[in-house]
Amino acid sequence: MNLDPLKLLEAMAATVRAHADELTALDQAIGDADHGVNMRRGFDAIAESREALAGLPVGQVLQKAGMTLVMKVGGASGPLYGSLFMAVGKAMPEAPDLEAFAKAFEAGVVSVKQRGRSDVGDKTMLDVLVPVSVALSAGVEQGEAPDRLLTLIPQQAAAGLEATRALSANKGRASYLGERSIGHLDPGARSSQLLIEAVCQSFGGQS
Ligand code: ADP
Ligand code: MG
Repeated sequence: MNLDPLKLLEAMAATVRAHADELTALDQAIGDADHGVNMRRGFDAIAESREALAGLPVGQVLQKAGMTLVMKVGGASGPLYGSLFMAVGKAMPEAPDLEAFAKAFEAGVVSVKQRGRSDVGDKTMLDVLVPVSVALSAGVEQGEAPDRLLTLIPQQAAAGLEATRALSANKGRASYLGERSIGHLDPGARSSQLLIEAVCQSFGGQS
């Protein structure tokens, strides 16, 4: 698997910057209007640390990026995305094949669930991360071609995001709104979907 972690992080930072206002607008509807600002601050800080990350094994790069997110991002999403990146990085071997990558991503999702005391159906980023992880693991197990996975995974992410619209929030600030959160997309689900789409596009370009 041809994988340049700095390119992946760059692709993630680019999509966060391009969609920061939209993420903030989504958070304005059911939260406190800072999700785009939070995400941009975090991914800008990662981009600033790129010289320190250059040449490190992929697992270490992701762990350090996760620590940066924990330190730089205010709000719930910082520790949650930080946990995701740190756990994925920790589980990632130096030269991961697709199976190892899927396992590492699964470990990351478990870590978000534990940190957030949340799961699929709560109207959070997990409504995107969980179905993506399940589809990735199943696809790898069934021997799907990488190209097929790179099409399938973004579709799962988009479906997971769309599913948050009908849900009532059980976690985070949006839960204060209860049923009034119904009808709105979850901002963290949108950022997760954007990051996954960017990673898949970046993989497509690299392989
Ligand atoms: P804050 O809510 O502190 O302002 P952000 O606006 O940056 O932080 O992030 C909000 C997003 O974080 C939500 O849209 C949701 O996806 C995610 N989130 C919040 N709480 C949880 C949780 N307990 N588990 C999983 N995700 C959560
Ligand atoms: Mg917020």
